Amino acid sequence: RFLSLEGGEGAGKSTQVRALAAALEARGIPTLVTREPGGSEGAEAIRGLLMQGDVQRWSAHTEALLFAAARADHVEKTIRPAIGAGTWVISDRYIDSTRAYQGVAGGIDDAAILALHAFGSRGLLPDRTFVLELPPAEGARRAAGRDGSGADRFALRDENFHVAVAEAFDRFARVEPDRFRRVDATRPPAEVTAALLDGLADLLP
Ligand code: C5P
Repeated sequence: RFLSLEGGEGAGKSTQVRALAAALEARGIPTLVTREPGGSEGAEAIRGLLMQGDVQRWSAHTEALLFAAARADHVEKTIRPAIGAGTWVISDRYIDSTRAYQGVAGGIDDAAILALHAFGSRGLLPDRTFVLELPPAEGARRAAGRDGSGADRFALRDENFHVAVAEAFDRFARVEPDRFRRVDATRPPAEVTAALLDGLADLLP
């Protein structure tokens, strides 16, 4: 099985991918945690290109291509082999981040992003995608309190951008209710993890 966690900055995705993996392992399910941009050697190198430098370094179009290229390598080298070996894969961000950030907030057509995904990653979609929902202002507060925040070229985006991202995730989830589950990320971490497991009930062995 293939799962992804999505949401804005500070929503607790990296904490929750680890907690969910531990919960699945405890049920005897071999699990691999991975992240985007990154998750394979080549994709981590592209992550460096994406995160470093000036905000203006890449246009939204170039960014979308770099994310698609990184994802193609991630899928080919990490995700597909693990799924093939019977391991559950949990990715901290995936295609829906590109649809929200470069697509809705960046102004690129969703169909174009999905076409790049079809080409680069053969259109591989998660069996389930969780959106961790948190008001963007609260996410910004949480993210500001951690190490390294403000250190990458994405740090200077304004609040409107993050509101657009949050609305985009919400809309994707409503349009595709079979794949998506929305989770209230303002709750304590253990309750969020429980909600994630709950949202997997139909997939668990
Ligand atoms: O997952 P994390 O929040 O650490 O994401 C790293 C950075 O990459 C964030 O600033 C996020 O906004 C940005 N990002 C992006 N477009 C994507 C995925 C991530 O701008 N498609």
